[in-house]
Amino acid sequence: MDKRALWEKCVAFHGHECPGLTIGYRAALYAIDLLELTFSNDEQVVCITENDACGVDAIQVLLGCSVGKGNLLFHMTGKQAFSFYNRKTGKSVRLVLNKPLGELTREESFRYYHACKQEDLFTVKETKIEVPERARLFDSYACECCGETTGSNWIRLSGGKKLCIDCYQRYDRFNV
Ligand SMILES: [Zn+2]
Ligand SMILES: [Zn+2]
Repeated sequence: MDKRALWEKCVAFHGHECPGLTIGYRAALYAIDLLELTFSNDEQVVCITENDACGVDAIQVLLGCSVGKGNLLFHMTGKQAFSFYNRKTGKSVRLVLNKPLGELTREESFRYYHACKQEDLFTVKETKIEVPERARLFDSYACECCGETTGSNWIRLSGGKKLCIDCYQRYDRFNV
């Protein structure tokens, strides 16, 4: 698929063209180059994004990273920074956006983010976070208060009872 078609795909998914979407689009293409990635259908590619802005949508489209598959994770710092991991090769990279010099209008920044050379657009750094484990399956328990079932990692113990998060918080309030 050529670049134009890839961009169209991102826009279709995201719903509009914007500078932010371009940032994620360029980051994903750069990661494909640096880590020799292909579209992910098996959690081979992992992205840890440091923001939840428009660009993340392009990463989902181009790399197949998604919350549901567990290969799109959030480490919120508010930065335009993305870490990419190739599980097959163990290679990883963290891309941090370089702010354009001077004040740009929305139109100008859109054009800048599209035209800028990828080496100039991002600073390539080493990842700071270990590649996360594959999506794990947890045991599940029924909450002893509301009876609803949830994963063991969400269960809290209070007075010897296994409680879901919601019931645990309610219980806590009554005990103060
Ligand atoms: Zn947008
Ligand atoms: Zn409950």
